[in-house]
Amino acid sequence: MSPKAQPPGIAFRKHDHRRCQRQLLAEATQLCAERNLRLTSRRRQVLEILLASHQPMGAYDILAKLNRTAPNEQIAPPIVYRALEFLLGEGLIHRIESLNAFISCAHPGHRCGAQFLICRDCDQVAELEVSDNGLLAEAGSLGFAVDHSVVEITGVCAECQKHVG
Ligand SMILES: [Zn+2]
Ligand SMILES: [Zn+2]
Ligand SMILES: [Zn+2]
Repeated sequence: MSPKAQPPGIAFRKHDHRRCQRQLLAEATQLCAERNLRLTSRRRQVLEILLASHQPMGAYDILAKLNRTAPNEQIAPPIVYRALEFLLGEGLIHRIESLNAFISCAHPGHRCGAQFLICRDCDQVAELEVSDNGLLAEAGSLGFAVDHSVVEITGVCAECQKHVG
């Protein structure tokens, strides 16, 4: 039985991140098994790097981390991009467009769009999944076929606001 799904916006809730990390990795592994996909060690490594925190990371930061853990093999950027491509395609991670960075998905495998709250102080990103999106309804009423929708909201999280002033 899979454990209860994470509450929305987990990044900005007090939580045991080690548990959160373990749970998300387990969900991702299970999802790949269900879809008959190979979570190769490279893909898994990239996912684990992203699961380490709720802060998004750019492809080159991920590459640098990989090369630090395996100094004997120089990993080339396309390898990281291919792993990211796979993880994105399966909904295990998301791209934060405004930061040109990647974040692990808090609800692996969901198919509907996500919205992101980005704290400009601690750089953490919380994922929300608000299905009743008035914006998309409006697009639909115009007969517009939406391919992709990005909602990225920048601001300061509650925790960081406490430390101001
Ligand atoms: Zn966490
Ligand atoms: Zn997600
Ligand atoms: Zn913050």
